[in-house]
Amino acid sequence: MKSFLLIMLLASLGFASVKVEATYASLGAIAKKVGGDLVSVHVLASSQYDPHFIVPKPSLLSKLRRADLLIINGGGLELGWLPPLMRSANNGKIQVGAEGFLDISHFVAMIDKPNSVSRAFGDIHAEGNPHYILDPYNVLIIAKAVAQKLSQLDSQNMQTYKKNLANFTREWHIYLKDLDKNMLTCKDKKVIQYHELFNYFLKRYGIKSYATIEPLPGISPSSKHTLKLINLMREQKIDMILQDVYHEKKTAHFIASKTDAKVKIIPHDVGAAKGSETLEDFYNMIAQRICH
Ligand SMILES: [Zn+2]
Repeated sequence: MKSFLLIMLLASLGFASVKVEATYASLGAIAKKVGGDLVSVHVLASSQYDPHFIVPKPSLLSKLRRADLLIINGGGLELGWLPPLMRSANNGKIQVGAEGFLDISHFVAMIDKPNSVSRAFGDIHAEGNPHYILDPYNVLIIAKAVAQKLSQLDSQNMQTYKKNLANFTREWHIYLKDLDKNMLTCKDKKVIQYHELFNYFLKRYGIKSYATIEPLPGISPSSKHTLKLINLMREQKIDMILQDVYHEKKTAHFIASKTDAKVKIIPHDVGAAKGSETLEDFYNMIAQRICH
């Protein structure tokens, strides 16, 4: 009886009731904004590593077993690591199609969808570019999708989720206004990147990406392709190489040494680079490193 009363008391005080697992840090950060004290949020993938190939550790399995809600990026980004973990976790609440499963890619507009011909190359992004988190405007869409899902799973707290979403949306619009203003000076910059990680950000702010250091998504650089890039950069006067934190940086520095381009290390997710631990700091860092 005593423990029952304690549970009722904790519930009435609004202690974390929904256990949320997010595959990536940015999704986790948004879920925390919307869920507030009503949710506990864990993140499966460390943003230090390649988001396409996370090492499935046993600790991830125990997190998945306990989860009430699993939020995934989708669009194929987790295909290389999450499906076997989900099978082993065997948690009916968060299986694909279950109430506690949320695939955010169903809510955002994906870009760079390949035509049927390019699928023949074994493209790791057959469904389009899944790195939509790089568009700071998508944060609003993600927050809304998470709020709807939390309201469905924990309907007695629906009003709180609604209020949290409204507050966060208002704050984020103010933030975006500022970011957009800062980015005005960066229009018409020319870049190449290692992998097409930053397309959503570049597209949003009118920056042209001419090529990637990897010849195809997921394929390591070749000397033939690298020489082609050096020529292209000289011809087009491209002076910036966007490098992620987890790939080798040798090729980028080699290209830079032949072209006088600058190598910029850009975080692909919240916390990927030191100083990018919040959503705001994450986008600010990208903006700052591309613009200055
Ligand atoms: Zn990718």
